[in-house]
Amino acid sequence: MEELDRYSRQTIFPGIGPEGQRKLAAGFAVVVGCGALGTIISNALVRAGVGRVRVIDRDFIEYHNLQRQVLFTECDIEENLPKATAAERHLQEANSAVQVEGVVADFSRTNAEKLVEGADVIVDGLDNFETRFLINDVALKHGIPWVYGGAIGSSGMTAAFLPGGRPCFRCIVSSPPAGGTLTCDTAGVVNAVPWIIGSLEAAEALKILIGDEHRAPVSRDLVVIDVWTRSFESLPLAPFANDDCPACGGTYEFLQGRPRTRVTSLCGQNAVQIWNAAAVGMPLAQIGERLAALGPVEGSEQMVRFSVGEQELVIFYDGRTIVRGTRDEKLARALYAKYVGM
Ligand SMILES: [Zn+2]
Repeated sequence: MEELDRYSRQTIFPGIGPEGQRKLAAGFAVVVGCGALGTIISNALVRAGVGRVRVIDRDFIEYHNLQRQVLFTECDIEENLPKATAAERHLQEANSAVQVEGVVADFSRTNAEKLVEGADVIVDGLDNFETRFLINDVALKHGIPWVYGGAIGSSGMTAAFLPGGRPCFRCIVSSPPAGGTLTCDTAGVVNAVPWIIGSLEAAEALKILIGDEHRAPVSRDLVVIDVWTRSFESLPLAPFANDDCPACGGTYEFLQGRPRTRVTSLCGQNAVQIWNAAAVGMPLAQIGERLAALGPVEGSEQMVRFSVGEQELVIFYDGRTIVRGTRDEKLARALYAKYVGM
């Protein structure tokens, strides 16, 4: 009775109904990344009664996350909780009737297939392109629907990709942008953007789980929004289909191909080196300018140095970045993703 009452406001909505609710209860959603997007997505899915929700994230919570990452509190930071652990706790408090699993891990080619095994939908709460290509590969390979979402500054985008449907994400964006990408840490983000995009992603995920084209038709559009210029666009996905797309052709380069990044601890030094194929020959002046807004930057044509807390990033023209002040490869990779972008 309590369970019927809990979901009454969505079961009386014809698009869901009692039958849709049963599908949600039987569904398994994997949310990759638990920042601004991931907290909104997982919050919506758990409260809607999705039977099993797995949330994967590699980071700890920092004060500058609280501006937009709605599941986290100051107490979580005092307890030094990883995002996935704090998310699991708060989500389970909101709905004890569903199974919530926080996984503290870097979603990578080595664990991706295992982490999405049995999933009915994968939802993107990430902050970097490279891992999105990995989701695209693993989703296509295993025939799992997935929902993409990205947010930065005042703008965001989202689209849903169904197995066998074209285009895929890689048809639209052929490779990670050369020269690093803007991230929320370098370009900032207005909190409303990930909240809108995350909510749209969650709605598509619910429709995918309900799996009824009449009752809950999944969007075939790429939605692009900007909350500062107040523009909302819906572009049909179909024209983006690319006949040369390796992923659609069954070649999963991000899952099985040669790694595009290499992370190595530097022997005898308190430093980690990251090599990124997409960063070879990147315009250092541009990166220097971006980082200068956040702190002191020193640089030349060959190299840019930027300090972040106790670590220092030394970014080279040839695709290498050395993160000084740590031997922790995960931390180095996280800092790289935040400040250089991958
Ligand atoms: Zn494709």
